[in-house]
Amino acid sequence: MKELQSGLDAWRYITSSDSRRSSVEMYLPLILSASGALGVLPFLVLRFIQQEWVAAAVDTAIVISFVTLGWYVFRTRRVRMASIALSFLCMTGVIATVYLVGPHQVYWVYPALMAVFYLLRPREAIGFTVLAVIVLLPKLLESTDTHGTTTVLITLAVMSAFGFAFSLITNWQRERLVQLATKDPLTGAGNRRSLDDKLEEIVNTYRRNATAASMLMIDLDHFKKVNDVHGHAAGDRILQRITEILNLRIRVTDSLYRIGGEEFVVILEGQGIERATHLAEQLRTLVEANELATDHSVTISLGVAELNVEEEAQDWLQRADKALYCAKRDGRNSTSVAN
Ligand code: GH3
Ligand code: MG
Ligand code: MG
Repeated sequence: MKELQSGLDAWRYITSSDSRRSSVEMYLPLILSASGALGVLPFLVLRFIQQEWVAAAVDTAIVISFVTLGWYVFRTRRVRMASIALSFLCMTGVIATVYLVGPHQVYWVYPALMAVFYLLRPREAIGFTVLAVIVLLPKLLESTDTHGTTTVLITLAVMSAFGFAFSLITNWQRERLVQLATKDPLTGAGNRRSLDDKLEEIVNTYRRNATAASMLMIDLDHFKKVNDVHGHAAGDRILQRITEILNLRIRVTDSLYRIGGEEFVVILEGQGIERATHLAEQLRTLVEANELATDHSVTISLGVAELNVEEEAQDWLQRADKALYCAKRDGRNSTSVAN
């Protein structure tokens, strides 16, 4: 699973398997764009009424940029790009306003900072903030209200420190949450939910680019007997060891899932049936050679299937499962290839 580094990354991941994905994913950037545009709009009107043309032009540019970005997110769903652009817009908007209208406009920096700490990764956000403060500093220091300027600088520092700590902690919590939602707790392999996500992603990619993909369905042989003889705890350790063995042999682009008690699936992206069958045989002999239980050979049976044109994920899974059934019928500790 890719690393989650900002609130939006995690938000996107958590909602990505949801059927409402397209509407939920862009929700926050859209709210930000809308509130940014609506927040600045009254000032835009005021500047026009007061005939402050430069400030009016800046406010118009800010409102148009917010609306354009909102429209961009809505149309393209490129949330990361929009997040960077929104952060940039918030900060440059504040800086332009402070320089053109006066240091008292610095209050806009607080909502802008909040947005930046949510939209960007913690380190990027702190970089943005430091840069913005450096640029704002000469204008703020012009003010004769030393007490006011000091208060602004101290509250900015406090808010940035809090924003940084808060986004680090919430990112860590979100990562934990995503881990709990996607990983099998016993072995650390992907769970059924993340397999479903992966299958959907692969089937969609296949329809666009016709890239090959294959699947290995793996089931431990006579595992009930292993449990009966050695106990459930020993059975659990064997499942963990098998996960390690499989993980060591598969490539970084392959992914491993535990989908039932003693059933695993390996997805091989960009690989056809030949390489998948070759890997299946390697895994089978490797597990056998590891002698995972005393006085008892622990073996696996495998079903191999390559994704077919126009095939749904569930049909692909079913063909692999059928092949696995054939491998069991053939006497176990064997590999069978789906038609
Ligand atoms: P086959 O070769 O036909 O697959 O035989 P089997 O005994 O492996 O198949 P079966 O599906 O009848 O039994 C699966 C067993 O796997 C049942 C259960 O004892 C064991 N099992 C399932 N989940 C776990 C688990 O989380 N930990 C342990 N230790 N055993 C499990
Ligand atoms: Mg079994
Ligand atoms: Mg089974």
